[in-house]
Amino acid sequence: MFRWADVLKYAKYSNPEPPRRLELPEPEWARRLTPEQYAVLRGRGTEPPYRNAYCRSYEPGRYLCAGCGSRRCGRAARYRAISGWPSFTQPAARNVISYHFDDSHHMQRVEVRCNVCQGHLGHVFPDGPEPAGLRYCINSVSLRRVDEGESPDF
Ligand SMILES: [Zn+2]
Repeated sequence: MFRWADVLKYAKYSNPEPPRRLELPEPEWARRLTPEQYAVLRGRGTEPPYRNAYCRSYEPGRYLCAGCGSRRCGRAARYRAISGWPSFTQPAARNVISYHFDDSHHMQRVEVRCNVCQGHLGHVFPDGPEPAGLRYCINSVSLRRVDEGESPDF
């Protein structure tokens, strides 16, 4: 199980080796992504709370990075948190997320990015439910939900 101490260790020292890497020039990202996806994934933006696709939907399935299709969160990790954004308790695998200290907006937070394409996903907080106590607060536009068994066409 992945815990807050692991988050801090990765953010402070170094992140896990990604399963693969996808690096593209910014114009190519701008072409591939919608303007909303681009603003969040590449511009480290935040979508409006409560007015986003997965905030109130709890359909089963797999949640992938909208930038590169990497598996981000497992179905079981999705949970109901009233934060305005979809929330998860655990990453799908340790090496799919990278962690970065973020001091912007006069807050000390830990930013989470896709470890494959370095797209901004959201932040992780140590106030999630037991047993791990993590809350991954993720922008809906950074995610794409697919049904179990369905292979995405990235
Ligand atoms: Zn990605």
